[in-house]
Amino acid sequence: MDGTMQAPIVQLEGVAKSYGGTVALARVELTVRAGEFFTLLGPSGSGKTTTLRLIAGFERPDAGRIFLDGQDVAALPPFERAVNTVFQDYALFPHLTLMENVAYGLRAKKMPRVKAHEAARRALAAVQLEDFAVRKPTQLSGGQRQRVALARAMVNRPRVLLLDEPLGALDLKLRHQMQQELKHLQFETGITFIYVTHDQDEALSMSDRIAVFNHGKIEQVGTPIELYERPASAFVANFLGSSNILGDTLLRPEKLHLVPRAHAVPEGFEKRHGMVREAIYFGAVTRTVVALEDGGTLQVMEANIVPVQGALRFVVGDAVTVAWPRAAAVTIGNSDNKGEQ
Ligand code: ADP
Repeated sequence: MDGTMQAPIVQLEGVAKSYGGTVALARVELTVRAGEFFTLLGPSGSGKTTTLRLIAGFERPDAGRIFLDGQDVAALPPFERAVNTVFQDYALFPHLTLMENVAYGLRAKKMPRVKAHEAARRALAAVQLEDFAVRKPTQLSGGQRQRVALARAMVNRPRVLLLDEPLGALDLKLRHQMQQELKHLQFETGITFIYVTHDQDEALSMSDRIAVFNHGKIEQVGTPIELYERPASAFVANFLGSSNILGDTLLRPEKLHLVPRAHAVPEGFEKRHGMVREAIYFGAVTRTVVALEDGGTLQVMEANIVPVQGALRFVVGDAVTVAWPRAAAVTIGNSDNKGEQ
């Protein structure tokens, strides 16, 4: 989805929040557009969950304003906001069946039973659990419980779904599978997703746009490609993927090539000489760390395109040249990506 085409649906203007002496958020500006898969990414304690809880209405800002669909929601309690939240611990009712769990909110709003159950059945079908409607949450796997929590949040057809590390409790394989399912579900329903994670791969692979948080501030907002290829700060460069930073120049490890020292490098390439300090085989890729002659190190990530037979191409102690096309060197902060928040 091209975020620039859509109307704003969630806006934060100068929003600040402290807990005692701790500044959780310092005057944050943020615009999320209708239909976006928007991710709040950052290390633990950077203010992501606080932002989500402010949008949901579980917390009040100390300063600033929050708009949903253009309406200032300062006075609205959580249940009167057109948003729903999916928590990491799912918060399902253990004594109710899946059908009853999903229909619960609709029944609480006095929707007739038959109609509520029909809506719940459709929501369960959307997450591939309609055959399990009479089971209880304890009879499900972690991934299935997560799907029930999603169905329950989506059955109300919220304008915005807030998801706080929803896949955090799942093992890696299931996590990858659920990432694709979530992305698919978001696309199918057109609901705006605001998704909190500290996992850079998750953010890169799922999001239309990402806001990178650091110490209660947003360092950069942009598409995954903008953030990865044109980071506005060293923090963003380091947080998203591995990086080599020489002064204010960023060199991503996968954009570098290793050649034997005696070899010439192609036209248009930069180079540095050095010696291999570390070479680790990861199956699909090999990671090589080169100590440069003029100081510093460069990390090189090369795909093992040619079958590796016996030994790696370069091993510790080899004299090598690291080469990269000039366009691979990016000046950090020279991106114009900071503005559009
Ligand atoms: P994140 O979601 O990025 O891990 P949070 O938004 O949860 O970060 O927290 C931001 C900061 O605010 C942290 O320093 C955290 O310890 C603090 N904080 C969050 N909630 C509370 C609270 N209820 N009471 C005290 N401090 C809090």
